[in-house]
Amino acid sequence: MDDKKIALFGGTFDPIHLGHTIVAAKAAEHIGARRVIFIPAKSSPLKDSSPQVSAQHRLQMVTLAIANINSFEVSDYEVKKDSPDYTLHTVRHFQVEFGSSASIFWLAGADSVDDFPNWYKIEELIDECNLCVMFRAGCDAPDFSRFKSLWGAERIKKLQQNTIDTPLVEISSTEIRRRLASGLDVTEMVDRKVCQYITNNGLYRSR
Ligand code: ATP
Repeated sequence: MDDKKIALFGGTFDPIHLGHTIVAAKAAEHIGARRVIFIPAKSSPLKDSSPQVSAQHRLQMVTLAIANINSFEVSDYEVKKDSPDYTLHTVRHFQVEFGSSASIFWLAGADSVDDFPNWYKIEELIDECNLCVMFRAGCDAPDFSRFKSLWGAERIKKLQQNTIDTPLVEISSTEIRRRLASGLDVTEMVDRKVCQYITNNGLYRSR
């Protein structure tokens, strides 16, 4: 484990689920990072719809889901901002906070790869941090070869080296929201305290 390796895990977490925490733990182990910082987004610049519940609810659910895992932390950095921000800016913020000797690893699921060409200044992001793509159930194994002519061989090599063979956990926030709106059980997909929070606050009852 290396104190200077920091994993950042951004997402809408609408809501956070066991897929998130399982792959984040595996990724941290693979990287040798002692800290994983979950960073709920205000909203995703690339998703068509806004999160269904408020940033405060999503932040609170992340806090509950990670409460018993020492290496996990949550940051309100993005939700506090006036408007949604880009990953590159968030990475730069944490690089300044932890200092130039820190290595920043940004975690993303394999479903993100098709969107990478739309990410803000993706080449600078690949250069400035370790953009780590994790395996995800229902997605092909990450393959970046089609972007070689866009970003160059060195960047493709770096992305491939940073691919993490995480376990395939067949859970998504979309499926959880769908189940909750239909009055179905989600206890196998979500941390117990998060389930309780969702019930207590009447979240996701309708689409
Ligand atoms: P939605 O269904 O609303 O799109 P989601 O389940 O993909 O949500 P996000 O909060 O959008 O959850 O995900 C944050 C990050 O976690 C993304 O990079 C996503 O690819 C990754 N991720 C989410 N679920 C999994 C999973 N089961 N396995 C691997 N990566 C995941």
